[in-house]
Amino acid sequence: MEYLVVWLFFCALVGVWASKKGRSGVGAFLISCFLSPLIGAIIVALMSPGGAAALPRDELGDPITPDTHVKCPDCKELVRREARKCKHCGASLIPQ
Ligand SMILES: [Zn+2]
Repeated sequence: MEYLVVWLFFCALVGVWASKKGRSGVGAFLISCFLSPLIGAIIVALMSPGGAAALPRDELGDPITPDTHVKCPDCKELVRREARKCKHCGASLIPQ
């Protein structure tokens, strides 16, 4: 019985780890349950981070993507595409 509890505990850890990487935590949990938490952990370790959780975010919490942000020509920092002035160096940006 204790073995089952430990097994499920490690399965849950793998699930939490997967969801932190922006992957399906439930899926990783089920894989660990049916195969082994060790195999589940290896699979999660090999996963590349995916989903919205992996995207860098600006100070408003919006994901930074090439669609929403451009690089300031002056200071090379990422600024919002709709910005007319760079928030980092104050250079005026030509709207695209
Ligand atoms: Zn700038």
